[in-house]
Amino acid sequence: MPDILQTAGLAKMFGGLSAVSGVDLAVVEGEIHCLIGPNGAGKSTLFKLVMGTYPPTAGTIAFRGEDITGRRSYERVQRGMSIKMQAPSVFKNLPVRQNIHIALQHHVSKSALAQDEERLLGLLQLTADAGKRAGELSHGQQQWLEIGMALALKPALMLMDEPTAGMSPEETFKTGELIQSLNREGMTMLVVEHDMAFIRQIAQRVTVLHFGKVFARGSIAEIIADPRVAEIYLGKTHEH
Ligand code: ADP
Ligand code: MG
Repeated sequence: MPDILQTAGLAKMFGGLSAVSGVDLAVVEGEIHCLIGPNGAGKSTLFKLVMGTYPPTAGTIAFRGEDITGRRSYERVQRGMSIKMQAPSVFKNLPVRQNIHIALQHHVSKSALAQDEERLLGLLQLTADAGKRAGELSHGQQQWLEIGMALALKPALMLMDEPTAGMSPEETFKTGELIQSLNREGMTMLVVEHDMAFIRQIAQRVTVLHFGKVFARGSIAEIIADPRVAEIYLGKTHEH
């Protein structure tokens, strides 16, 4: 499979601080790629460079072979990227189904809307709670609803920054299953995560960042077996 996303020499300086430096990242189409590393490693900054929240200080970003370094976030979304926001963007006073409806309505034909709503509710395991106000859902369910709203765009590449933050172990595991089922439908996933158990559950490919640079990369098995990674990562898995 070709790379869906490629960065070359990507860098971001904040004043004198090198938050991301010389990062070559390649995300293979169809894979679940996890970005890990200790607190302050530059994961969120790299994520924001990919999304177009920040312009890079140096380097380039290519999406499906097109240089998108100078493109705005919405232009990246038009090309097939979507992001699960960290800040809540669900309408808490509206029913779950209405939230899904709003997210879908501009992206799906009228005739397909009802069917897509049901499909998405089922995928998110929210069918039984579709009539509840979104604000009444558990924290984990609200996160899944957020993922569902990002999915309405039918992205080729889905970006998630710590999707399991604040979740119970059971909710975390179910989030892993959701990510895997989306991946089986062909969606490429780039996931920033701290929780090592979750990474073991979902990751196919892993990039480890440390002090803004790529410290290691490989299959999940290679990364788990790498003592250098354990050294920088151990004991830091609960920091945010
Ligand atoms: P991570 O997500 O891996 O924990 P971040 O990308 O958030 O790391 O941060 C990397 C480094 O860049 C840290 O030293 C952080 O303090 C700094 N940093 C992040 N965002 C900003 C910003 N907007 N302004 C200044 N410094 C920042
Ligand atoms: Mg972060």
